[in-house]
Amino acid sequence: MSLNVALVGIGKIALDQHVPALKASPDFTLAATVSRKGSVEGVPAFTDFATFLESRPDVTVVSLCMPPAPRYDYAEAALLAGRHVMLEKPPGATLSEVHALEALAKSKGLTLYATWHSRMAHAVAPAKAWLKDKAVQVAHITWREDVRKWHPGQDWVFEPGGMGVFDPGINALSILTEILPAPVHLKKARLEFPANRQTPIAAQLTFSGNVTADFDWRQEGPQTWDIEVQTSQGHLALRMGGNVLELNGKPSGGENTIMGEYPALYARMAQLVKTGSSEVDLSPMTHVADALTLGERVAVEDFHF
Ligand code: NAP
Repeated sequence: MSLNVALVGIGKIALDQHVPALKASPDFTLAATVSRKGSVEGVPAFTDFATFLESRPDVTVVSLCMPPAPRYDYAEAALLAGRHVMLEKPPGATLSEVHALEALAKSKGLTLYATWHSRMAHAVAPAKAWLKDKAVQVAHITWREDVRKWHPGQDWVFEPGGMGVFDPGINALSILTEILPAPVHLKKARLEFPANRQTPIAAQLTFSGNVTADFDWRQEGPQTWDIEVQTSQGHLALRMGGNVLELNGKPSGGENTIMGEYPALYARMAQLVKTGSSEVDLSPMTHVADALTLGERVAVEDFHF
């Protein structure tokens, strides 16, 4: 039976990915939207979350697509009103608020799913399987994209809680924490903050186990979302944000499209609701929090959209 879901925060990612994924979903019906300005044609639209919760008890699942800083209040209200909750990435503005949501969901017997869409990329599961029994010698992440292209005019990414370049970088970290056969921890970070902004526009990270990362939001032209891992038994490269796999320099599977990621998230959410469970893995966000705790701050030139 299909579950009624409401999408909350109708902006870029809701329209690009959630709406098409839900329209094709065998598990969910998009039964309402809640957004101050946004809406989806043909779907009942609310502008106030409390009014929605009161008037639509038939909508048992709420998918929160607004930026992370305001998300906690919506998630808490939804859980208190007995709804299952799906969180866009990053799951919140702080680790402790997501721990609080996890405890609340548990106490109410509801599902909380902290999604990581990049973990659903085509080549992530095969990469994890290939690395499972191998010794990692060196790994490097290159995540360089153009913030003007992917977040046009979205000033919230440079405001406190917006995480700056870690907004895309956390996608790489969600893949890294999924595929590595053993966990790593941050040893050093260098963070480049535009002098007129609150969050970094670039970051270079050094982890234990010879793992490094280079995140940069100033990349024009070709965009790079690569993870390379050298092991004692060969070389693995994940390209296109985890969608394409290369083993020892040869194409070895995957598909160069991100369009499978959100359908897979909703299929997982349906499974979690059905089995009465939650999934909240905060390891990618822990690395970001560590970088913001430990990082050396370097001022770079002002950034304007
Ligand atoms: P966005 O378009 O700037 O924001 C989404 C919507 O959230 C806005 O249209 C707005 O709708 C609502 N919103 C904004 N600020 C709010 C506030 N303070 N309180 C309540 N609602 C607010 O952002 P986005 O690009 O869709 O990103 C949203 C989340 O998805 C982020 O966590 C991001 O990391 C994640 N994500 C984004 C992308 C991407 O390509 N952009 C990809 C994957 C994941 P109303 O004004 O109508 O209320």
